[in-house]
Amino acid sequence: MNKKNTELLAFDRENIWHPYTSMSSPLPSYLVESAKGVEITLASGEILTDGMASWWAVLHGYNHPKLNRAIIEQTEKMAHVMFGGLTHQPAVELCQKLITLTPKSLERVFLADSGSVAVEVAIKMALQYWHSKGEKNKHKLLTVRNGYHGDTFAAMSVCDPVTGMHQLFDQVLMKNLFAPAPNIAIDEQWQAQDTAELETLFAENHQHLAAFIIEPIVQGTGGMRFYHPEYLKACAALCKKYKVLLIADEIATGFGRTGKLFACEWADVSPDILCLGKTLTGGYLSLAATLCSKEVATTISDGEAGCFMHGPTFMGNPLACAVASASIDLLKENNWQQQVATLEAHLKQHLLPLAKHERVKDTRVLGAIGVVEARQNVNMARIQKRFVELGVWIRPFGRLIYIMPPYISTEANVLKLVRAIATVLDEEQCFTL
Ligand code: PLP
Repeated sequence: MNKKNTELLAFDRENIWHPYTSMSSPLPSYLVESAKGVEITLASGEILTDGMASWWAVLHGYNHPKLNRAIIEQTEKMAHVMFGGLTHQPAVELCQKLITLTPKSLERVFLADSGSVAVEVAIKMALQYWHSKGEKNKHKLLTVRNGYHGDTFAAMSVCDPVTGMHQLFDQVLMKNLFAPAPNIAIDEQWQAQDTAELETLFAENHQHLAAFIIEPIVQGTGGMRFYHPEYLKACAALCKKYKVLLIADEIATGFGRTGKLFACEWADVSPDILCLGKTLTGGYLSLAATLCSKEVATTISDGEAGCFMHGPTFMGNPLACAVASASIDLLKENNWQQQVATLEAHLKQHLLPLAKHERVKDTRVLGAIGVVEARQNVNMARIQKRFVELGVWIRPFGRLIYIMPPYISTEANVLKLVRAIATVLDEEQCFTL
């Protein structure tokens, strides 16, 4: 590594926060020079096969000519303009596509700037909806354990408190309600009693419930678990029965990752509010969207406040909208369904057999997501270093070593990722603290 890059890394270590990282004993960061397709090139020269899609987001691979062009062409017209009182073609065209593609109940779009903010907006919509209807007691949220919805305040209040990620802020968070996590896996026999406790919570608290929020089918950060579609169906039915809005958080699952364009489709559920992010721009820029039904939007607009009380500066950023639109076009052009089905087959063939390893508790695959659940926590610093030495970019957490590669990944790419996982499973040092 040359002197300039060594200095950059030293400054980074000393001065720059990374996600959920300590400043006093930071895990090493690797300096990236460039990324193209499924490969990340480090400044030190190593080329890594990407298994993370930059946390679900990069669907079509890095540095895609069509996505690059969408941004360049839009930059030459206008990089940004305020959304208060002004609008533009990239935003309108993107929202037309979103309304067409998402479940039928969703007809109004709020363009937010990150996943957590999309959740924040969804929760505020639900609260304002009931306020506008004069039902001011409906101000609590119900959710399930093991959920994760982001790091802002309302989003934190619906994350599972026992994961400990947000416990520190407990005193000032909204006091919401938690049902047991869905515990019947997607490939298990459905049992109706799985929702009994959930129903009790609805029955006892519905007068205070504004909304029920859930990650459809995949609980991501809270354990990478795939639950049964009948559970989601039952949740939607309970929401209807007890007059509670249903918020589906598809920030991770949206745009095909589970094998359906939206994971709600597994249960044929049409939520009142839907959150999208990450994949929306194909992993290019920070943009998210909160879609809601016409009824929710009209009720809020006709209410006491006269408008929805939220409006970020970079709302509807034209560059982000243009690249999101191009990413949606690419999904169709590339036949995402075929891409994800092929990846699922490769993951099932190569990753599922790791279940035989003595260090492994479970392996699971859904769509383009593969998970190896170890029996013990990984040693993050050591395992990360070993993955880089093995030429892959995989970032585990806790006991979970998971991959969600870009949709363009080949069987050879999947094999390289899986072989690297198999190698670290044999290495005691990657699991001892
Ligand atoms: N909701 C879900 C289901 C997520 O997986 C995430 C991020 O991992 C978020 C919300 C928060 O999104 P962001 O990190 O863009 O704020």
